[in-house]
Amino acid sequence: MKFVGAHISASGGVDQAVIRAHELEATAFALFTKNQRQWRAAPLPTKVIDQFKNACAQYGYGSGQILPHDSYLINLGHPVTEALEKSRDAFLDEMQRCQQLGLTLLNFHPGSHLLQIDADKCLARIAESINIVLDKTQGVTAVIENTAGQGSNLGFKFEHLAAIINGVEDKSRVGVCIDTCHAFAAGYDLRTEENREQTFQQFGDIVGFNYLRGMHLNDAKSGFNSHVDRHHSLGAGNIGKTVFSYIMRDPRFDNIPLILETVDPDIWAQEIAWLKAQL
Ligand SMILES: [Zn+2]
Ligand SMILES: [Zn+2]
Repeated sequence: MKFVGAHISASGGVDQAVIRAHELEATAFALFTKNQRQWRAAPLPTKVIDQFKNACAQYGYGSGQILPHDSYLINLGHPVTEALEKSRDAFLDEMQRCQQLGLTLLNFHPGSHLLQIDADKCLARIAESINIVLDKTQGVTAVIENTAGQGSNLGFKFEHLAAIINGVEDKSRVGVCIDTCHAFAAGYDLRTEENREQTFQQFGDIVGFNYLRGMHLNDAKSGFNSHVDRHHSLGAGNIGKTVFSYIMRDPRFDNIPLILETVDPDIWAQEIAWLKAQL
């Protein structure tokens, strides 16, 4: 099965995201379970949790079709102890919110060394952060997203993702999400059949498809190997549309949420319909 959707607004409550996903005829969706630009959020009211679960049941979204994303403020590899602890606490809260909602995945950007510690030390910190949080939660997998490598963000090489996984004790609850825009901006070409075969071969060899828990389907406004993270609508950017047909037809990308984070929500319904038509 292919599960396709978009990162949908949860304004008005997380249950509203489910209804919006259904309206787009999406078979998957992503959401923030709290305001992504704030550290703290009020706990999820029981009523909202029930409404969310009921809406998911009503519209046929299983937990494997939903890929929540954490706050942009969190840096699980922060070089400064106090700030690292603040991030770990916030990440734990995000994982607990997912657990309360009956969700099984949480997507996050690995972290940044801020030019204060070396990359290996930062990757070890990220793995340690995941270990701490997995120890205190149940049933939710930490899903590391590859990045464009903007600034001092790690996660732009498949080796970074593999190094983090290597440091995680419970391998059954760690996975990865590959963002096509980020991969392209980080120097993994996806434009031709040969390019993408090579890129996903590398991914398979270095990380392994057994860890793939989701994909972000974005074209790129930014250039190849630019290390700049700028998404674009499918076919409107520098990657082009063909890689998205390829992903839809390739069974290695079955049974995971395939999520648009493209720039024009007004055409998400069309983009979802186009993706489904590639099968
Ligand atoms: Zn993404
Ligand atoms: Zn991005």
